[in-house]
Amino acid sequence: MQAEIIAIGSELLLGTTVDTNSAYLARQLARAGVELVRKSSVGDDTERIATMVSEALARADLVICTGGLGPTLDDVTREGVALAMERPLEFHQTLLDQIEARFTAMGRTMSPSNRRQAYVPTGARIVENPRGTAPAFIVEDDRGTVIVLPGVPYEMRYLFENAVMPYLRDERGITDAILVKTIHATGLGESVIGEMIADLMAQTNPSVGISAKQARYEIRITAHGASQAEAEAMLATTEATIRERLKQHVIGDEPLPATVARLLKEQQLTLALYETSTLAPIFRALSAVNGGTECISGVLIHPLDRAANEDAAAILSQTGAFGIVDRWRADLGLAFQVADTSDQSGLTAVSVTLVTPKGNRQVTRNYDLRQTEGWEFVATLGLDLIRRYLVGEAA
Ligand code: ATP
Repeated sequence: MQAEIIAIGSELLLGTTVDTNSAYLARQLARAGVELVRKSSVGDDTERIATMVSEALARADLVICTGGLGPTLDDVTREGVALAMERPLEFHQTLLDQIEARFTAMGRTMSPSNRRQAYVPTGARIVENPRGTAPAFIVEDDRGTVIVLPGVPYEMRYLFENAVMPYLRDERGITDAILVKTIHATGLGESVIGEMIADLMAQTNPSVGISAKQARYEIRITAHGASQAEAEAMLATTEATIRERLKQHVIGDEPLPATVARLLKEQQLTLALYETSTLAPIFRALSAVNGGTECISGVLIHPLDRAANEDAAAILSQTGAFGIVDRWRADLGLAFQVADTSDQSGLTAVSVTLVTPKGNRQVTRNYDLRQTEGWEFVATLGLDLIRRYLVGEAA
């Protein structure tokens, strides 16, 4: 089954409302194994909506519309879909009674304009909307099916989960599943990872893709199976192959900062930080995680502390790490120190030291720190040093 989504509302074209409904519907359709071939937006205009729906029906079997079911005159999705399906709008007293009952239950009086919402195209299947006043509806003809949902996100999601999914499963026999799994990795160059899993990236199902950000990689596996179980099995096989090839470079299901925060908490260890940049990249990365600073016992930010050269940076990062462990009686101390020199390419040596109860670990790398994102590479390096220690990897 191929599907298209049409988001309806002039506010979407003006950019005042971000079309999160289509993104939600896209994710749900993918999970249900329905192939989404196009997403589009159109303003509140009967003719244009009708044209979009007709064009979508010529390409896809299923068209899902969202928005424009309100009571005001500018909500014309009903009219647009009725025109496209050549089914005049039909009034349903039962719908009007339900809308009125909803207003009464809220202690309000229904306004005459709500009468508009009691109209649906002739022959449409009505989907009651217990979350709002606008009923949704499903219209079928020999070209395909059009499902029309309200625009208010929580109403739209409720109706998709409680009415559209059961319809697709029970009446359209949708059992396919597309599952997506993301594995996080670090400690290798993107091209190196790419070469290690080149054969997996060349296959189409499951498909494998990599996205990189400051030496942290997200490897995304997408599997399309005839059932949920088949898709899960395909994901598991590919994930096992990736884990086997990348070994210790695989962080797991969570990004690096979340993994470090979780491991510290699980092992009930405290961490002190010494950062020689006001950007405090390591503290910042952990702060962005929910509960990520709970295990941090102290942070010393010393932007003026500069080492004369690479060797001095190594010594000072070690001194810094020991100093903060003592100062805050932390279990672990992580410090980085930057050499006050850079080569012609603008690269600066950064030494990172991790002091632990079982000895210290140190690495030095060169980064371009003229850009803010250079500091995020420092965060990746430092956090991965902590992660490797916490998962019991040899230094
Ligand atoms: P109801 O009649 O239940 O209010 P409706 O179908 O009339 O629903 P709209 O009038 O189109 O819905 O939109 C109501 C609100 O829902 C908008 O003001 C906007 O905040 C939000 N909304 C509409 N479409 C989208 C969308 N595609 N993505 C995210 N939010 C949306």
